[in-house]
Amino acid sequence: MGEQIKPSIRKQLEARDEWCWHCGEHNDLVIHHRRNRGMGGTKGKQAAITNGCQNLIRVCAQYNFEMESNATVGAAARGWGHKLPMWEDLEHPVFDCTKFVWYVLTTDGRKVEVNFRNSAF
Ligand SMILES: [Zn+2]
Repeated sequence: MGEQIKPSIRKQLEARDEWCWHCGEHNDLVIHHRRNRGMGGTKGKQAAITNGCQNLIRVCAQYNFEMESNATVGAAARGWGHKLPMWEDLEHPVFDCTKFVWYVLTTDGRKVEVNFRNSAF
């Protein structure tokens, strides 16, 4: 069992992510872990990082499902920083597909616009 996402973190995410990072939908948003919560420990400091603002983004339920079930969508999600491999830093930018802007997510629940080009993409 992993530790829960704290209510204070949920509030920060709701304020930061008003729409789905992928399609801009405002309704039916769910919290998605960029780096998988199932690996790398779920206790103490590691859990705080896994369930922290830098690792969590709000997306629509449909996209959340497709990232895990559709290989093409999953690959695109990795290109946009919506999904991260375990070794990737959480400072890795996230792409807002509706605004065409890259952001770095901060530990205190902000998003900071950055000039970024994903060379692997
Ligand atoms: Zn969406």
